[in-house]
Amino acid sequence: MSEQNTQEEEISEFYDKRIHYYPNTEDLGDAEMRVIALGTGMPTLRESQASTCFLVEIPSVTAGEIERFLFDFGTGSMTKFAALQIPYEDVRKAFITHLHSDHWGDFWAYWIGGVAQGRVSGLEVWGPAGDEEQYGTREAVKHALDAMKWDVATREEFYSSGKVPPAGQPLESKFNPSHTTREEYTFEIDSLNVNVYESDYSKTIVVYEDKENGIVIKSWPANHARPGAVSYSLEWNGLKFAFSGDTAPLTEEFSKFKLNFKDCDLLVHECFTPANAHFDSQGATSQVGHNAHDFHTTPEDYGELMRQYEPRHAVAYHFYNDFDTSLDTYNRVRESYKGELTLAKDHLVWNVSEEGIIVRNIAHHPDSWVGGKFGR
Ligand SMILES: [Zn+2]
Ligand SMILES: [Zn+2]
Repeated sequence: MSEQNTQEEEISEFYDKRIHYYPNTEDLGDAEMRVIALGTGMPTLRESQASTCFLVEIPSVTAGEIERFLFDFGTGSMTKFAALQIPYEDVRKAFITHLHSDHWGDFWAYWIGGVAQGRVSGLEVWGPAGDEEQYGTREAVKHALDAMKWDVATREEFYSSGKVPPAGQPLESKFNPSHTTREEYTFEIDSLNVNVYESDYSKTIVVYEDKENGIVIKSWPANHARPGAVSYSLEWNGLKFAFSGDTAPLTEEFSKFKLNFKDCDLLVHECFTPANAHFDSQGATSQVGHNAHDFHTTPEDYGELMRQYEPRHAVAYHFYNDFDTSLDTYNRVRESYKGELTLAKDHLVWNVSEEGIIVRNIAHHPDSWVGGKFGR
């Protein structure tokens, strides 16, 4: 068989995927990245869109299975995660862009949800330090854990009664020690433990590096609300995913960080719906924060940024994506940007490879949940 034939077959195989993605029914190709939207909405929750959360999956050479990275775990996103029926044990690495509740508000659900459903090892959480200690990720996680003393005590008592889960994998150390401070919380039960890797928000930093699998995750400052918010990129095997978190366009002060958004295969960037585009069914505007645009990106700005960043495929998130708002958002983005674009909703999946990028809905049942190491 000629080389060309083989290549054509690979391409047709890639585009041969089912119209919808059925979780746990597709292998990942050796050079294929899968990105799943688990939260694309606003801090004010509703059923169709949880707060921010994206899952990135790539094949691991060393472990022989899929490596998974969670970017933000905003309020409500764990209900969306459950639909994937991925064991919590396999999603222990999470990267927080900033400490607004819509970006890490499901911490307890992520943490205890896993403990209750068979995760045997601790969590590893990366996030920015603050400009003062009290505003950093370590402090946030510490207080979240402290608030759960009663909950933790019940689990420790339960497990110490003899029903101890199997020993977990030791927590890994694929962080960058020169830039990252590690904080470890030590509970008797492995699965309750949380390692926090906190790093300087004010510069471009490699926060995670897995040399064996060629995975590099970087963070750099976002222009959002106050110091201590970051954006991330994940580079692997010639593919690049970037996630803005929340950020207004990078102004003069931040302009050198714009380079980090270049050369993306998939760029997930916020695109904030202006307050006057939120209508109720009678056409009245809602009370969404009218000043929020000072630290967010409007659809017009989003379009202009994508025109500059030139990703292979741009994903816009952080707005109510409804029949009465999406066309307006779309048209405003299109004033500047003509490239590939998804206006994100929850439970969309992007398969990214050199051959192409396809986006599909995820088919699932709302009763789905994850019942243990091997799912259910
Ligand atoms: Zn925010
Ligand atoms: Zn937000």
